[in-house]
Amino acid sequence: MAGDYYEILGIPRTADEKEIKKAYRSLARKYHPDVCKEEGAEERFKKINEAYSVLSDAQKRAQYDHIGHESYTSASKGSYTGGGGFGGFSADFSGFGDIFDFFGGGFGGQRPSGPRPGADLMMNLWITLEDAVFGTEREIEVSHAEPCSACDGTGSSTKKRISCPHCKGSGQLRQMSQSIFGQFVRMTPCPECRGLGKIPESRCPDCRGAGISQVKRKVTVRIPAGIDTGMRLRLEGYGEAGDPGAQNGDLFIEVSVRPNDRFVRHGDHLETVAEITPAQAVMGSEIEIETIGKKKVALTIPPGIQHDTALKIPGEGVRRRGRPGDLLIRVKVRIPRQIPPEAKDLYEKLLEIEGSKSGHKKGFFSGFMGKG
Ligand SMILES: [Zn+2]
Ligand SMILES: [Zn+2]
Repeated sequence: MAGDYYEILGIPRTADEKEIKKAYRSLARKYHPDVCKEEGAEERFKKINEAYSVLSDAQKRAQYDHIGHESYTSASKGSYTGGGGFGGFSADFSGFGDIFDFFGGGFGGQRPSGPRPGADLMMNLWITLEDAVFGTEREIEVSHAEPCSACDGTGSSTKKRISCPHCKGSGQLRQMSQSIFGQFVRMTPCPECRGLGKIPESRCPDCRGAGISQVKRKVTVRIPAGIDTGMRLRLEGYGEAGDPGAQNGDLFIEVSVRPNDRFVRHGDHLETVAEITPAQAVMGSEIEIETIGKKKVALTIPPGIQHDTALKIPGEGVRRRGRPGDLLIRVKVRIPRQIPPEAKDLYEKLLEIEGSKSGHKKGFFSGFMGKG
């Protein structure tokens, strides 16, 4: 269980905000790569940050607790099914939500100068309630920029980048200005190399020196059971290409669950309606319920059940990791509008027993109009 976020921070699952922050502060201080020269400290530091970025955010923490560590961190194991010829980044992604952005910009939160990572992409994905309950896989097509395969993203047909002659490789130009207070030096990014300090040795004809090309790829996305509207899956590396040598951005898939005709979701529980007759309500009965998984389950209606009572079928709700939710059956007593003569006689008899008068002998309307 090396991966569990609570264990990484060494806190109980019931820890409150303060405890989380305290644990994080002391661990982050201990394992910060600038301080700790221990083997694997940087990896450990990243894990600590990752755990903190999730547990310190109430919404992410709820999501994490809800679907479990494994689903949370491996929600989207996918693989390329599109064209090959490209090995610039890993096709094994982790992630659920933007959990890595905490340290995405380098330590200390300062944006490092130099190659910029690619932009993140965002797309919406509609799924059925059944898919949300059981989890599913979905093939999607992603159109994004990747490092050009002809030049390995260098933008140069020789695959070499040379020092920019315009700024002499510094990526910055000095601009001097004179004022009454003295001489000012202003640094501006070099327009020739866009501040990178390097340019392609010989322009790649495929990408015209840009180092990136627009491609479409098919990706299989694993959608974990228990996912709900508004949750995001993260496909690492499926965003836009960055500057040469920099990381691709990520693709975020925001899931929306379509409403279902028969089932309404309440968290992990599902609810559906079953209609019964007055006789079934009075005497009790057994009815058959079809679950969202198309399973037939016998449900016992206890004698004397009241209209709008909910009965429970355990474990037939949302199948997330751990304990699945329940299926609630909202029982509605339906009053028949038309009944066969034998039944009419019996209802008549019931009225007699109750000491009530039947309405239909006099005629409903005459009674209603007060002429009777
Ligand atoms: Zn330059
Ligand atoms: Zn190229």
